[in-house]
Amino acid sequence: MSPLSCKKCCSQSYVKSGHIRSHQRYRCKEWGCQFTATKTRGVNPALKSFAIVLYSHCGVSMGNLSKLFKVSTVAVLKWVRNAAAQIEDKPVQKPDIIMVDEFWHFVNGKKQNLDVASH
Ligand SMILES: [Zn+2]
Repeated sequence: MSPLSCKKCCSQSYVKSGHIRSHQRYRCKEWGCQFTATKTRGVNPALKSFAIVLYSHCGVSMGNLSKLFKVSTVAVLKWVRNAAAQIEDKPVQKPDIIMVDEFWHFVNGKKQNLDVASH
């Protein structure tokens, strides 16, 4: 069994803090989060990230992901939605200035010496 750590902040420094539903309860010294030594609920966050990469970059469907990770399709949908919500809504910058320098190299590059063309 892996060493006990806080389920919220992963801190491994904690003190016993009474009992809850006949489980030993602990309080982490880091942030004071309360937790018990029971199995962590839900799917490992690293697996969720992996699922999102598979979904967004590899074209794996939510149905296939749900079978792969043995969760419901709705769960996969929630992971994807949460991941999308975390992405900042940055406006895409439209290029309004063309780098003329690059273009100049393309046009005149062959006429120049190598050390001039590749600065
Ligand atoms: Zn904590």
